[in-house]
Amino acid sequence: MNERKNKAIIVGAGPAGLTAAYELSKHGASVVVLESDPKYVGGISRTVNYRGYRFDIGGHRFFSKSREVEDLWTEILGADMLHRPRSSKIYYGGQFYAYPLKPFEALCKLGVFESTLCILSFLYARLHPNRDPKSFEDWVVNQFGGRLFRIFFKTYTEKVWGMSCREISADWAAQRIKGLSLGSAMKNALLPKRQSKDRQSVVKTLIDTFRYPRLGPGMMWEVCAAKVRAMGGEVRLGRTVVACQFDSATYTWRISARTPSGTIEQYSAEHLISSMPIRQLVAQLEPRLPDAVRQSGESLRYRDFLTVGLILREGNRFADNWIYIHDPDVKMGRVQNYKSWSPEMVPDPNYCCYGLEYFCFEGDGLWTSADSELIALAKEELQQVKLAKAADVVDGCVIRQPKAYPVYDDNYKGHVQAIREALSSRFPALHLVGRNGMHKYNNQDHAMMTAMLAARNILAGKQIYDVWAVNEDGEYHESGEAGAKSAIEWKPVTVTAGGS
Ligand SMILES: Cc1cc2nc3c(=O)[nH]c(=O)nc-3n(C[C@H](O)[C@H](O)[C@H](O)COP(=O)(O)OP(=O)(O)OC[C@H]3O[C@@H](n4cnc5c(N)ncnc54)[C@H](O)[C@@H]3O)c2cc1C
Repeated sequence: MNERKNKAIIVGAGPAGLTAAYELSKHGASVVVLESDPKYVGGISRTVNYRGYRFDIGGHRFFSKSREVEDLWTEILGADMLHRPRSSKIYYGGQFYAYPLKPFEALCKLGVFESTLCILSFLYARLHPNRDPKSFEDWVVNQFGGRLFRIFFKTYTEKVWGMSCREISADWAAQRIKGLSLGSAMKNALLPKRQSKDRQSVVKTLIDTFRYPRLGPGMMWEVCAAKVRAMGGEVRLGRTVVACQFDSATYTWRISARTPSGTIEQYSAEHLISSMPIRQLVAQLEPRLPDAVRQSGESLRYRDFLTVGLILREGNRFADNWIYIHDPDVKMGRVQNYKSWSPEMVPDPNYCCYGLEYFCFEGDGLWTSADSELIALAKEELQQVKLAKAADVVDGCVIRQPKAYPVYDDNYKGHVQAIREALSSRFPALHLVGRNGMHKYNNQDHAMMTAMLAARNILAGKQIYDVWAVNEDGEYHESGEAGAKSAIEWKPVTVTAGGS
């Protein structure tokens, strides 16, 4: 038993957890971060080191519309943050297209016949729109026409989500299309380019430069963890939180964490900051939540992801950061070229490193394949899309990432809302932050901003910020009623088990 009663226990040493720890430690508050990974901090933003070759879990661009987030990255890594040019392509029908699309190139490569059909199908969709678009497919066809939908949207989106575009909600398309597909690219390509100096008006997915840590995103979080420790905070790896009990009489959280050897350690604190998936948290809370709320937690779904990291002899390699693979004949969704992110990702200049990304569900055929089978598949597919010869690959590794994406299905909003209401009335000193911690499909900057605000609430001793008001760009927008409602003082409350 760790006897000290800390100001906060933080579950997860990803961007959200470590940002909260950093903010609290800077203000002298005692924190313990419990991270289940025995080796790495950084969560989905970690960098895996395989024989000195570094692989991201998908390339991680550092760009935020929030000045505070950008400043924090600079404060942590300073000159180790590189400014990198962005270059990406789409592979479709045996051809590589610049992304964002260049209209002339796209027209030439699609050919006059196909281009004409695309324009006609676009005009048809504009003249005969679906007045009640329900699915992703309905929404995109309305915007771009059926032909462009099939060429540039359908395959990649279905690979990412593992379901038909007819099952993905139109809401989702309207909210996230810029992050997943070509909507903004098409507009960008067809309209004259305006150089915007205003961060707020920049379309994030289309930025042409971004920052990136010299040794990958994991470097940011390794340095952040070291700084937290230097300020007196604890960051404990290999600690999986398995139970979270709140004692309302003493206003104390008692947290149990399992170590790699299977023993259980206990920690206590005034506040609990959780970046673990909501589904896990809801099942662990004591006093036990009502069955309906636990059921809502169980209903939240996730999409999983694996990267096959390949080390290849340097030759005529592509120079882009990444290439989207819009080809139904191969299973991979995207290929990363880590040397283009930072040359220091690859220790030997005679080699380069690719990451072939596969979207899957934990336990499905891809997920459970042996590493050797996945590496063989990746080599074969790399050759199929003409990016390298299988024989050029000298070594490889497989990195699996469970719960890489919180799924936005038709019901998730209602479930999250029911859980939020139940938690706020029963557990006043519980703070949900981050991506799976709030079931929000967002980037590091959002995860970090929610953590910064949660830390500020704790330091203030009352809820001065509504963490749920942080938008997908990591910006905090709150006014009027929401602001007033959020100014709740924290004091010991009686927690009722069961009921409601
Ligand atoms: C393919 C891909 C590409 C991406 N590209 C970008 C990009 O270009 N730019 C960008 O900014 N963002 C990108 N992101 C998003 C980014 O990875 C996430 O937004 C960010 O990592 C979320 O941080 P987090 O701390 O909320 O969660 P996570 O990174 O998921 O960290 C949560 C941590 O909690 C730990 N944990 C979970 N349960 C427990 C438990 N019970 N006990 C102890 N520890 C636990 C986990 O091990 C993990 O380390 C990308 C994501 C993916 C999947």
